[in-house]
Amino acid sequence: MQWTDLQNECLKEFHEQGGSGQVIRDALTKVPLDAHMIQICQLLFDSGWKLVILSDANSVYIEGILQHYGIRHLFSNVITNPAHWDEQDRLYIQRLTPANAPHGCAMGVCSLNICKGQQVDTLLRHVGKDMSTRMIYVGDGRNDYCPAIRMKDDKDILFVRRGRSLEAYLTRDDPAIQEVLKARIVYWKRAGDILEELFSAPEIVRLLLEDD
Ligand SMILES: [Zn+2]
Repeated sequence: MQWTDLQNECLKEFHEQGGSGQVIRDALTKVPLDAHMIQICQLLFDSGWKLVILSDANSVYIEGILQHYGIRHLFSNVITNPAHWDEQDRLYIQRLTPANAPHGCAMGVCSLNICKGQQVDTLLRHVGKDMSTRMIYVGDGRNDYCPAIRMKDDKDILFVRRGRSLEAYLTRDDPAIQEVLKARIVYWKRAGDILEELFSAPEIVRLLLEDD
C-alpha cells in the first residue's frame, strides 16, 4: 500500500478501535526536537532567511510539533500532505499530489504523493528566484535528492544526514548521481554539526543582518 494511504488506513483502524485523537495530539508534544535545531531555525530566521518545511509527513503532525515548541512563526511555508480532524475526532491524511493527477517526475527517487523537487521549483518561482537567491537544504531521505539537484552552485549547501537513505543514495557507485549535484555537500549527524558549519560560514548568518 502507498505510504500516505497506509497511514490514513491505520488512523481509520485506530479510530474504529476507540483510539482517541487526544492520544495523537499528546504524542506530538513528546516528539523530541534537538535544541540546536531550534537554535538553527531562529538564527537563520533572524538573519533574514525564508524557512520552509518540505516533508512527506503531514500537516497535523508538523503543525502540532512546531506549535508545541513555539516555533511555528519561524516558517513561511509548511509543504506536506494535508491532514484534518473530522467532527468524530478522527484524523485523515491525504496525499499532497492526488493519485488522479500524478506529478510525473521521472527522477525515480520521489514518492507517488510528493515530488519535493517540483515543490521547490514552485517555491522558487514564488520568491522570484534570481542570481542572488541562495539555498540551504537539510535532508535525510532519498526523496531529498530531487530538490537537491535544483541547487545551482557551491554557495548553496546541502546538509546530508549520516546513516539515512539520502547518504546511501549519494554514495552509490554511480558517478552520474554526484555529477548533477552543484551544491556544497556537508554531512551531519547531530543538529550541532549544522550549527557549527553555519557559524564557520559567517556570510550566511551575517549576509542579511548587514543589509538591515
Ligand atoms: Zn521529483
